[in-house]
Amino acid sequence: AKDKEFLLNSIRNIYDFPKEGIVFKDITTLLNNKEAFNLLMTHLEDRYKEYNLDYVAGIDSRGFIFGAALADRLNVGFVPVRKKGKLPGTTVCEKYELEYGFDEVEIHLDAFNEKKDARVLLIDDLIATGGTANAAAKLIKNVKANLVEVCFLLNLTFLDGKKRVEEHANVYTILDI
Ligand code: 5GP
Repeated sequence: AKDKEFLLNSIRNIYDFPKEGIVFKDITTLLNNKEAFNLLMTHLEDRYKEYNLDYVAGIDSRGFIFGAALADRLNVGFVPVRKKGKLPGTTVCEKYELEYGFDEVEIHLDAFNEKKDARVLLIDDLIATGGTANAAAKLIKNVKANLVEVCFLLNLTFLDGKKRVEEHANVYTILDI
């Protein structure tokens, strides 16, 4: 409980970003605090070292930071789920709805090919409506990997996004706010 409070206090609120009325959770103040970053990564390592993962997949772009650091700690590979148009190889893509309009995420078709039925953890910094993670989870299943769990540092509980993602796999959130 003390550790969670420390982590929560290392994240700052930025008002009216990216637009008026939104309170943005800024995790850069957790990342540049070595005690906070280390505490978080050790917590994630302790949880996932027993999971026999083959890969950690991270969502563009803050999911890359935590996902890549965790993959290295667990001695497994890292796979990026990117916003449309960024990955150079053959991709599969998944459209999802935003407040206004659509967005798309992509994954390399052969990202998990080295390992049959690869055990994959999907990670991002924050879940709001769950739209992004829901699309990312679909991608991982579409390329025939085994989505073992989906993990977030922050869960904006009032938006209830967790439910959507739970259709695909167990969801683990560290800080529920
Ligand atoms: P969702 O698709 O669940 O509505 O939105 C989650 C995605 O938007 C995540 O990729 C997350 O990084 C980003 N996001 C939305 N709001 C915030 C926020 O307040 N802080 C941070 N750090 N990311 C956010």
